[in-house]
Amino acid sequence: MRKKLVAGNWKMHGSLRQNEALLQRLRAEAGALSCEVVVCPPFPYLAQAQALLEGSAVAWGAQSLSEFPQGAHTGEVSAGMLCDLGCRYVLVGHSERRSLYGESDSVVAGKFEAAVRAGLVPVLCVGETLSERESGVTGDVVRRQLDAVLDRVGVAGLASAVLAYEPVWAIGTGMTATPEQAQAVHALIRSHLAACGFEAASAIRILYGGSVKPQNAVELFGQPDVDGGLIGGAALVADDFLAICQAAN
Ligand code: PEP
Repeated sequence: MRKKLVAGNWKMHGSLRQNEALLQRLRAEAGALSCEVVVCPPFPYLAQAQALLEGSAVAWGAQSLSEFPQGAHTGEVSAGMLCDLGCRYVLVGHSERRSLYGESDSVVAGKFEAAVRAGLVPVLCVGETLSERESGVTGDVVRRQLDAVLDRVGVAGLASAVLAYEPVWAIGTGMTATPEQAQAVHALIRSHLAACGFEAASAIRILYGGSVKPQNAVELFGQPDVDGGLIGGAALVADDFLAICQAAN
């Protein structure tokens, strides 16, 4: 039985004051939830998350990391630095990183490897654009994104990872994949990993992300291969995020 996980991607939102209210509320209520809860604030607020969530049922993570361990990489943050702070999770290959910041499959694979080497839990995001879905190549795209990582770290490198299927056309658009569409891709991901020799394919957690709201979470999370969600906009509103976590209970 896979324990459900709900992760909030705050993107580039928040302030010390807003975060404090949200984190205090999550801290107070997450203990009663049966799913795992993770928040991913922007880098400057990770220390705040660490301080306010210590000893609570809420874990925290970063939204990205460098593929390099240290050196002349102005503006970057290494896996070691995240570990230093006590960070446990890190998003890798979010579609906004891929499309807005030019992260290729190979860069994403490098970041994934850096996370695994440091002992972080990478949450690897994969998903197709609208035109790719309409052209019928969703499976090809998702397999290509997975294979880039598998080529780099092998199946052993997936042991601690979490995957997130995030159709690009559903992120921040209010257009959600239907539960059937999500389930089909999640099942495809699992069977592809099994075909690649990953023995724990039935145990790895695959989150769905893309306009998840309290209104659609129960049905999405009720699909057999959907193990929770990666939540953007709704993760900034305590009532909504907690309701989504409840849906994963
Ligand atoms: C995301 O940012 O990963 C995401 C899924 O955003 P939203 O829930 O707003 O679509």
